[in-house]
Amino acid sequence: MEDTIAAIATPPGSGGIGVIRVSGAKAAHIARLLFKPSKRSVDFSSHHLYYGDIIAPETGKALDEVLISLMKKPHSYTGEDTLEIYCHGGYLILQAVLGEIIKAGCHLALPGEFTRRAFLNNRLDLSQAEAVLDMIMTKTERGRELALSHLKGNLSEKIETLRRRIMDVLALIEMSIDFPEDENPPIPPFSKGGPRGDLEGSKRAPSPGSKESSKYEKDIASQLAGIAQELHDLLMTYQQGKIFRNGVSVVIAGKPNVGKSSLLNALLGEKRAIVTPIAGTTRDFIEEFIDIEGIAVKLTDTAGIREPENIIEQEGIALSRDRLSSADLAIILLDGSEELSDDDRRIIAYNINRNTLVAVNKADLPSRLGLSDVESLLPGRDIFRISAKYGDGLPAIKKAIRKAALGTDVHHQPDAIIANIRHKMALEKTVSFLLQAKEGVLKNVLPELIAIDLSDALATIGEITGKTASEDILTRIFSQFCIGK
Ligand code: GDP
Repeated sequence: MEDTIAAIATPPGSGGIGVIRVSGAKAAHIARLLFKPSKRSVDFSSHHLYYGDIIAPETGKALDEVLISLMKKPHSYTGEDTLEIYCHGGYLILQAVLGEIIKAGCHLALPGEFTRRAFLNNRLDLSQAEAVLDMIMTKTERGRELALSHLKGNLSEKIETLRRRIMDVLALIEMSIDFPEDENPPIPPFSKGGPRGDLEGSKRAPSPGSKESSKYEKDIASQLAGIAQELHDLLMTYQQGKIFRNGVSVVIAGKPNVGKSSLLNALLGEKRAIVTPIAGTTRDFIEEFIDIEGIAVKLTDTAGIREPENIIEQEGIALSRDRLSSADLAIILLDGSEELSDDDRRIIAYNINRNTLVAVNKADLPSRLGLSDVESLLPGRDIFRISAKYGDGLPAIKKAIRKAALGTDVHHQPDAIIANIRHKMALEKTVSFLLQAKEGVLKNVLPELIAIDLSDALATIGEITGKTASEDILTRIFSQFCIGK
């Protein structure tokens, strides 16, 4: 029998309510031992709330006035008997109550152990368990929607359908292995090739007159291509999903005094960065998150990139370059009230091959910047005229950030989106096994070898929902959770 585990499920600090969770065979025992109902007796019906005190059994003294609920298996989060105790939300109270639970023979839960048990008891699959973590961590509306859709099983359902289709093809292939040539199989044989070769000669000797793949083989190959295509389409959603889940990093690059801090503040909608008319004031990075139409955008204002005049500036500039190169998108900011300078040209040259937007600031002042110079240095890029100081052109910049990050401004929502690098890698492997199998079918490769490719495809696609995930993968995933989840 598994240990009974317990943990505080609410974050440390004071709050209206603090929740303690207990999961395992001893949950009902803990309720009877520590809970003194306000009524004379209670029967602890499943999924009912009871009001009373938690007491220290040794002294009989009350520790807190609480509500408790026992959820009998399998109808609980973990699939085990689960007790939830709703205490007053003070950390000392919660520690005292938890202390009594541990004394009564429970173990302190490891990070993510409740969710791990839920997974092991088939209450949710692995991609849903990951969605629980995404739900907790999400910073934006779109991230929340995506995590909830995964939690509800939309991705699992899609993956499971495709997995079953691979299984169906594998069953056909195995059928052709199991039925000797001279027996009549219930379905057309996979290959009409001659006597079965050994595994070393990976090609089946074709029978006379059957050099080309039969219609049946072509049909199998096209089924495999169809599944691979659907997986590929799912893979194509990754860029969008990643941005919904993790957000996008944007740096504002420009020479000193061009208005980087002003733009950052204007986008944030409040004053954060220090704005001064002296060149080179922003020494450190200023990083802030803003929510642009449901996407978390991490904005970084970098120290002005120019030839360093001293060692501190040199370091600041080196760091700026690092940030610039790791960001998803750079906004090159130019001063519209001045002519293009060597500093501007250097910044443009540095960003020439990156995902960039060009913004010409100080549009409220008389224009002295030759736009044709900028266009010739950055051909084909959108150029936005803005005034960070007065807010002109900011909605267009926000729209452009969203579009540049997602690669599209269409609000298209596929039925399933992937957002997790683990899922992406598993799908890529699955596609390559399927395509290998497809080639094998068309080239009359031994069905035994095709069956191996398809088994590999099943194993890799199964990693997503956890059908075939190794202990390593499970440990890696659940260790990212907090204790009590
Ligand atoms: P940074 O060094 O690039 O971060 O530039 P700041 O944001 O500190 O701005 C430098 C100076 O330019 C400040 O005096 C700002 O008030 C001014 N400034 C910034 N944006 C605009 C703008 O759109 N129009 C005008 N007229 N002045 C601006």
